[in-house]
Amino acid sequence: MKMVFLDRDGVINKNPAHGDYIKRPSEFKFLPNARKAVKMLNNAGFDIAVISNQSGIGKGLFSKNELKKIDEKMLKGIKASKGEIKGTYYCIHHPDANCECRKPKTGLIKKAVGKNKIDFRNSFFIGDTERDVVAGGRSGLKTITVLSGYNKNKDIKRWKKQPDYIAKDLYDAAKRIVKLSTMEQWSGALRLRSCLRSSCRVG
Ligand SMILES: [Mg+2]
Ligand SMILES: [Zn+2]
Repeated sequence: MKMVFLDRDGVINKNPAHGDYIKRPSEFKFLPNARKAVKMLNNAGFDIAVISNQSGIGKGLFSKNELKKIDEKMLKGIKASKGEIKGTYYCIHHPDANCECRKPKTGLIKKAVGKNKIDFRNSFFIGDTERDVVAGGRSGLKTITVLSGYNKNKDIKRWKKQPDYIAKDLYDAAKRIVKLSTMEQWSGALRLRSCLRSSCRVG
């Protein structure tokens, strides 16, 4: 099973101002083509999970119930565009809480994976911050940073942990993933063919 893990703010929807949060549904605005990108990834055989830090709850700036309403708005919008997000996973703790789920830690990704057998090598984490690259990399995923969030090329250059790819936005990232997975299928088919010729065992 192949998965694409998505950060939320700056990837699916417009980021709030630095240091601010999406505190109510009216503040949640889809980025252009983000919904289309989810559908494209679904069609290419990827399950999608959203992995997001929302420490504004731990700081008392908005409630769990507001997050739930924001989440519902997002899922409804995705569904209306014929896409599917299998699960959404949020860390709602204060940054000082030292929980296991706040990215760059990998708790939420582990939770999203659950008992599923994931093909990590062909699965991706897409985010807009270095924290996303670290969390994805630690989980053995390919990482993509999108430029639709807080960081531009010049910022990314300074990161200690570099993403595998940089994409303009989620739609651009999805196109690239689809292309890569097609290439992977091709090289798999070629490998199988040469194996058949030399009668080696596959897998
Ligand atoms: Mg983000
Ligand atoms: Zn947490």
